[in-house]
Amino acid sequence: MAKRFEGKVVAITGGNSGIGLATAKLFREEGAKVAIAGRDQKTLDEAAKFIGGDTLAVKADVSKLDDIDKFFHQVSAKFGKIDALFANAGIAKFAPAGDSSEQLFDESFDINVKGLYFTLQKALPHLNDNAGIVLNSSVVNSKGSASTSVYSATKAAVRSLARTFASELVDRGIRVNVVSPGPISTPIFGRTGLPQAAVDEFASHVKTQVPMKRFGTPEEVGHAVLFLASPEASYITGVDLNVDGGMGQV
Ligand code: NAD
Repeated sequence: MAKRFEGKVVAITGGNSGIGLATAKLFREEGAKVAIAGRDQKTLDEAAKFIGGDTLAVKADVSKLDDIDKFFHQVSAKFGKIDALFANAGIAKFAPAGDSSEQLFDESFDINVKGLYFTLQKALPHLNDNAGIVLNSSVVNSKGSASTSVYSATKAAVRSLARTFASELVDRGIRVNVVSPGPISTPIFGRTGLPQAAVDEFASHVKTQVPMKRFGTPEEVGHAVLFLASPEASYITGVDLNVDGGMGQV
């Protein structure tokens, strides 16, 4: 059977860990030429090896506009125009509102919102018409879990941006959709800024909120991304697809 992304060019921010890495691997297995961006050279090199093929790994911080430019110029120089973009890079810093800080707020919005916004803007000249764009939001974009005020607000902004970009890009045949994962087993839970005991408590509490009573895998999100980015989703734009064991919808 023909591979779904044979010869297609796929760009993924945050492709060196967790959901981005698993999704990059799935795209590669479907024949894509894959480019990833991330902040850490060592994990980028390891990721490129794991993904295989001729994967391009670029050190780029999405909160820096010059870095985003550098990423897309390198992708275009190596592979040509982009057929699928997964704007996935993000951080999850948690704190009760009373303990939050300007630094936590600025860092979260700089990466999750400003970084994603300019990733989309700067991708525009490098995208093929009819490309598929997928944004990584979160089930929390429409929830109010304690300690997630800033993170949830950034993810609601991501959901909003999909609507506007979908509308602006429709004439080019470019579709813009969102995946909203529930709790997924990735290194992100070790990076929340909460003490380990609080992370463990958060994780066991979250599980009780999921009808399927388990964390998802990064690949389960990746399969949804591939679908939304593919021509199989040719009449779908502006949607928010929960991949969350029922957490956001049931
Ligand atoms: P992760 O920590 O394993 O991966 C995050 C990725 O983003 C890494 O590759 C990291 O290098 C990259 N990144 C972070 N800041 C960056 C920056 N400034 N510039 C470039 N790259 C940067 O976590 P993950 O769980 O795979 O998270 C991926 C996305 O999924 C995030 O946007 C996250 O908010 C979202 N998400 C995760 C979950 C979950 O439960 N794991 C749930 C919902 C949404």
